[in-house]
Amino acid sequence: MSDDELSVSKGSKGNLKKEFEGLIHQQLNSQHQQIREAFKRMVSMIVDSYSARQALEALKDPIKKDSGLIQLKGLSILGALVKNTGHDFHVELATKKWMDRLIKLARSTRDERVRDKVLQLMVDWANQFQLQLQLDEFSIALHRLKAKGIELPPPTEKGKPRHRRTKSNQEKGATATAGTEGPSTSLELLLTNIQADVSNLELGLQSQEMLQEGIAEECRKHLQKIQVILSTDLPDQAMYEFINLSDQLHELLGLYDAVYTDSTPEGHALDREVSEMKKLDMQIREEQELKARKERELEDLTLELQSAQEALRAATDAARLRSLSGPRNEKDKRVHDMLTQVVSNCANVKQAAVDCKIKMQEEKAKMLQENARFLKELEENLMEFPTLVEKAKIGESKAFLLLKKLYTIEVNTRKKLYNKLQELRGNIRVYCRVRPLSAKEKAGPGGDSIMSYPADGEIVVREPGGMGKTRAFEFDTVYNDTASQEEIFEDTKPLINCVVDGYKVCIFAYGQTGSGKTYTMQGPHENPGINRRALQRLFDLVEERKEVEKCVVSVSVLEIYNETIRDLLCDKMDDKVKYEIKTHPLDGQYVENLVNFPVTSIQHIDQYMAKAEKNRSSGRTNMNEHSSRSHMVLYVVVRNTNLQSGVTTVGKVSLVDLAGSERVGKSGATGDRMKEAQAINKSLSALGDVISSLSRNDSHTPYRNSKLTHLLKDSLGGNSKCLMFVNVSPASYNCNESINSLQFAFRARGVVLGTAKKNVEQPKIEVPHVRQ
Ligand code: ADP
Ligand code: MG
Repeated sequence: MSDDELSVSKGSKGNLKKEFEGLIHQQLNSQHQQIREAFKRMVSMIVDSYSARQALEALKDPIKKDSGLIQLKGLSILGALVKNTGHDFHVELATKKWMDRLIKLARSTRDERVRDKVLQLMVDWANQFQLQLQLDEFSIALHRLKAKGIELPPPTEKGKPRHRRTKSNQEKGATATAGTEGPSTSLELLLTNIQADVSNLELGLQSQEMLQEGIAEECRKHLQKIQVILSTDLPDQAMYEFINLSDQLHELLGLYDAVYTDSTPEGHALDREVSEMKKLDMQIREEQELKARKERELEDLTLELQSAQEALRAATDAARLRSLSGPRNEKDKRVHDMLTQVVSNCANVKQAAVDCKIKMQEEKAKMLQENARFLKELEENLMEFPTLVEKAKIGESKAFLLLKKLYTIEVNTRKKLYNKLQELRGNIRVYCRVRPLSAKEKAGPGGDSIMSYPADGEIVVREPGGMGKTRAFEFDTVYNDTASQEEIFEDTKPLINCVVDGYKVCIFAYGQTGSGKTYTMQGPHENPGINRRALQRLFDLVEERKEVEKCVVSVSVLEIYNETIRDLLCDKMDDKVKYEIKTHPLDGQYVENLVNFPVTSIQHIDQYMAKAEKNRSSGRTNMNEHSSRSHMVLYVVVRNTNLQSGVTTVGKVSLVDLAGSERVGKSGATGDRMKEAQAINKSLSALGDVISSLSRNDSHTPYRNSKLTHLLKDSLGGNSKCLMFVNVSPASYNCNESINSLQFAFRARGVVLGTAKKNVEQPKIEVPHVRQ
């Protein structure tokens, strides 16, 4: 540091000391408000400018002073600074010099209070900082005092915790301190009471129900009481407790006034009007007083004039008499003329005064009239205020109701139109999706797509080989290999809307292994397929309609493998649990004992799908192989209650990723492979049979021929909506399987299921038994 810098720094430190001296002076001689401000300022200076040493320097004199009271106050400040500053201050104080100074004071003072105070502080510090190495001077000082045979007080109890007390423990606090003797007992009691009221006021500010009657008034009284107490000589601990409380009370009462006095715009407007009115009233009164004074002055003036006139008249008469009795000289004549002039002047002044009085009276009457009119207007306006506010409120709620009604109408119209369209189209809708060629397929022989799309909804398969035979198929929609997951879902979305309206919906993907079924239904995490998007759509609808409907969405995930149902969301696979398909009058088909979870967000779904994936693969050596040999069903139930009518509907969507449709093991398959192939053949041909039966409109449809058709019974026929994705590969080596799939799907497209119906909840129907 250069000399200049040093002198600047010394200079500024010197200034700091002076500032501290000023602040200490304020604390020693002022009222509590200034004391508090000065103390706060001292603490922040010490902490912000690292000026503990200067503060202590400034405290030296007051503590040395002869006057006991000043010394006591100085010591109080010292004690409070130890409590309210930090380590730097403690280090500066824990020096031999300061301890010598205090020991000397304790031994030399004649004032017992000063001695007790010093000893108490030193005992407390030694006790508080006994484990801090840098502050061991406190403990050493205590030993020195003991060695000198000075009797030491016990350490004071640790400061009470700052948390507030409630009414109930306020009583506890009161009894706990009741045994203590001396003035601190009543102070403690008072502190406890005030703290309780402060905390009650705070509660009242958090919620109006908790607001105790009269608590704010009580607290205002406390505030006054504290102000009185703070002007007396207090132990420093108590002083700072009270200062703290007074701060809190100020703040809370300010908040109370802001919260519980009318702070609405209408309230402000009324307040403004009323204060404006008061102001005007005051002005009018002042003016009236002024006028009255002026009138009084005028009357006095008139009286004076009258007496002057009378005096003049008497003088004139005397003069006239005098002139009659003797010869009239020049001087008398002049006097006479002058007097006549004065009399006429006086008459003029009198007339002017009268005119002025009349004018003022006129003005006063005019003003009074004006004021009366203004007051009347004001009164009318004020009377209209509440009605206007009320009207605005009613208008607002009417608009809201209208909006709600319009929304309901809009939703219903949309529902009706879509259902009409679906009915016209027939209820099994078939979408065909062709996956892109894989890189390997492109690179291999015949790496061209055998698919072409001559028109919307049409697909043509060119059979490989010399003849180049073509087969054309028509579906509701055909997606070529460039269609995105979003586009696919866009067309599926309306079906999902139906689920919230209480319809049963089934969406399944059919096709050979590797044709893109899982991609379409589940999709990769970063580009999800129908399952995840459908659930997201459901959540969006639930949110959109929450004003009018309360929806609960729940999911189950199951697998049908070798004609056995496995619960993919249960915690522990248990072969003993029986998963039987049952029928419920409202919910339709359901699986007994299947775990079922309510879901509210897409994150939930991700968790459950991950769990299902884990359960599905457990105990499987070749997962890909296994997943293509089993059907996976994501089963979503939406229970929807209309908040106005109270009617509940149950909608359901089964999202099915079917096993591969290829004919496996037609020859040579044995063991497990043969069993699997038989199971798949059974379920897919059962699906085909059901679809054929529905298309022929048979009186009996063989749903029970497989677990899959049995489970999907209510979603395939009758009052349901069904969408089938037929997934095909564009590669020439898959040609036969692709044609098989397309033929199957084409047959399905002819099925008309009849008019779909909502599933409206009847009273007293039990919810099917599910495991939670
Ligand atoms: P499947 O479920 O019928 O066995 P997958 O869905 O597993 O068939 O699809 C087989 C392969 O083709 C996977 O690697 C998949 O990522 C890919 N795939 C399928 N459909 C598409 C598509 N539309 N776009 C891109 N890749 C696809
Ligand atoms: Mg698959």
